[in-house]
Amino acid sequence: MTVPAAATDVLSVGIDVGGTKTALVVTDAGDRLHASQVVATDGADIVGQLAGLVSRAAGVIRPATISAVGVAAPGHVDERAGTVRLAVNLHQVELDLRGAIEDALGIPCRVEHDARAAAIWLDAEARNEGRASRGLAYLSVGTGISAGVVLDGQPLRGADGLAGEIGHLVADPDGPRCGCGLRGCLEAVASGPAIARRAAELVAAAEQATSLPARPTAEQVFESAALGDAVARRVVDETAAHLARAVRGLALAFGVERVVIGGGVARAGTALSEPLLAAIARERDESPLVDDALARATVELVAADSFAGARGAALIARRALASTGPHAAGGKGVDREQ
Ligand SMILES: [Zn+2]
Repeated sequence: MTVPAAATDVLSVGIDVGGTKTALVVTDAGDRLHASQVVATDGADIVGQLAGLVSRAAGVIRPATISAVGVAAPGHVDERAGTVRLAVNLHQVELDLRGAIEDALGIPCRVEHDARAAAIWLDAEARNEGRASRGLAYLSVGTGISAGVVLDGQPLRGADGLAGEIGHLVADPDGPRCGCGLRGCLEAVASGPAIARRAAELVAAAEQATSLPARPTAEQVFESAALGDAVARRVVDETAAHLARAVRGLALAFGVERVVIGGGVARAGTALSEPLLAAIARERDESPLVDDALARATVELVAADSFAGARGAALIARRALASTGPHAAGGKGVDREQ
C-alpha cells in the first residue's frame, strides 16, 4: 500500500503479464499509486491468476472500489478486439483476454501490447511533469525484443497492432535462427537468451581465458564484463552495438527524442548503459546524418521500480472507462474478495 484510497476514488488496476513475472498496480484518477505487487506468472492459468490478483487487490484498497482493469501482454495484441495471439512465453496461441477478464470480474477490461503500454505510461508521466517530448520509444530487451512508440502523445499501433515489433528486423543476415523462423533477427542476437548463447559459444571456442561457466546466464555475462572478463566484454560490446543500431533505427524511422530501455536485460544497469552509450557515440562520430538524428535524443534505462507496463495498462483502462462509462461490461466495480 502506497497511498490510502478513499471510498470516492475511481481506481483502476494495471497488470503487466511477463513470461516469468506479473506486476500489478492500483492507481487513481490522478495517477497516484495505491498498491503494487509482483508475483511469478502462472502460464497454465493466466485468466484465473489475473482475476484472483484483482480480487485480492480490491480487498486491500477497501472501501474504495476498482472500476476498470488494464492488462499489458506480450505477443500480437489486438487492443480493439482485446485478444492476444502468439504469446509463446505465456503458452498462448490465441486468447480473448478482455472477454475472459470481463466475464470473471464484471468490470471493463482493456488489453495492450506490453512495450506500448510502458511507452504510453512514460510519455504520460513526462507530460504530467512538464517534460513532454514529440516522440518516445520504449525498447524492451528481455526474453524477446520489441518496442512501443508514442508520437505527439498518440501510441503507434499500425493497421493490425504489430507496429513496434522491431525484434524481428534483421540485425545480421548470417546470424542464428530466430524463434520466429527467420535468421539473424535483432532478438536472435541481442535478447537475454541470445547473450547467453553467444557467451557459451565463445567459452566453448576457448580462444581467450574467461571466468564464465560453460553455460552462463546473460546476468553472469554482464557481471563478468563489469569485472573485466575479456570474453564477457566481447559479448556485451557486440550486444551494445546491436542495440545501438536499434536505437538509431527508432530515431531515424520515427523521429523519437527519447528512447527508454527496459526489460530483463536492462537490469544490468551501467554494465549495459555504458557500452551502449559508447556504441551510439561511435556511430555519431562516423556519420553526420546519424549525429543529426540523435543530437536531440536521450537514451536511458527505465527506473527499476517504475512498473511502467502495469501503470500504462491502468492508465489505458481508466481512459477507456472515461470514454465509455462504467457499465460497458455490465459491472459496478470489484469491491470485495471473491
Ligand atoms: Zn525473428
